[in-house]
Amino acid sequence: MINRRGLLVILSSPSGAGKSTLSRRLLEWDDSLRFSVSATTRAPRPGEVNGEHYHFQSEADFKRDVANGDMLEHAHVFGNFYGSPRKPVQTAIDAGRDVLFDIDWQGAQQIVNSALGPHTLSIFILPPSIAELRRRLESRGQDSAETIGKRMLKSWDEISHWGSYDYVLINDDLDQTFERLKTIVTATRLRRLQQPGLVDHVRKLQQEFEELA
Ligand code: ADP
Ligand code: 5GP
Repeated sequence: MINRRGLLVILSSPSGAGKSTLSRRLLEWDDSLRFSVSATTRAPRPGEVNGEHYHFQSEADFKRDVANGDMLEHAHVFGNFYGSPRKPVQTAIDAGRDVLFDIDWQGAQQIVNSALGPHTLSIFILPPSIAELRRRLESRGQDSAETIGKRMLKSWDEISHWGSYDYVLINDDLDQTFERLKTIVTATRLRRLQQPGLVDHVRKLQQEFEELA
């Protein structure tokens, strides 16, 4: 019997605030955590590996998967389609494993409002300032000036949804943010709902208690 129920950990932020960096750290910290590899129609960045960072797909294939109900959520972001394939997530959570999502506010809302909603933990990452957000996007060195400009213009759209997340972290000092993130994940894993095995444990305690009488 599975004595825990998988948690869906959702990280969102404006592009450049640090969610990929924090995701990477979380996955290194706990190798039982599964990363939900999204499908996207955008072109790979230098160093991105198909099947590891994203499943890079044609628009036709992406739309077919959506029509077949194979995406848990999907959205149009910065002119490209992005979505979370349903099957690997379902397999992981059914086996009691937690799954990490790096997705935008539209995807977060779709999952939180689905039947899986009670098993989600949503966290929004804010930058310390807009100037620092730009500096981080530039220092990442992976996007053209035009793409950075587009992402900066869209950053307020994303930030404006901060209020619908369970937790909000201001990612100023990376180590401190990461410590806080681990604390949030650790505490949420102890939620009653994530521990279906508790019912049996309490029944056993009750039996032991009754045997006392
Ligand atoms: P996102 O995934 O949100 O687009 P990234 O994780 O790619 O953002 O971070 C953007 C850039 O900012 C990267 O170069 C990363 O190393 C850097 N970065 C992330 N967090 C911090 C931080 N707390 N302080 C300074 N630089 C950071
Ligand atoms: P990037 O192109 O920088 O990798 O991602 C751009 C934006 O798309 C980020 O905000 C990222 O979180 C979001 N994103 C990545 N994958 C998905 C997904 O599967 N679904 C949704 N809704 N957003 C995604």
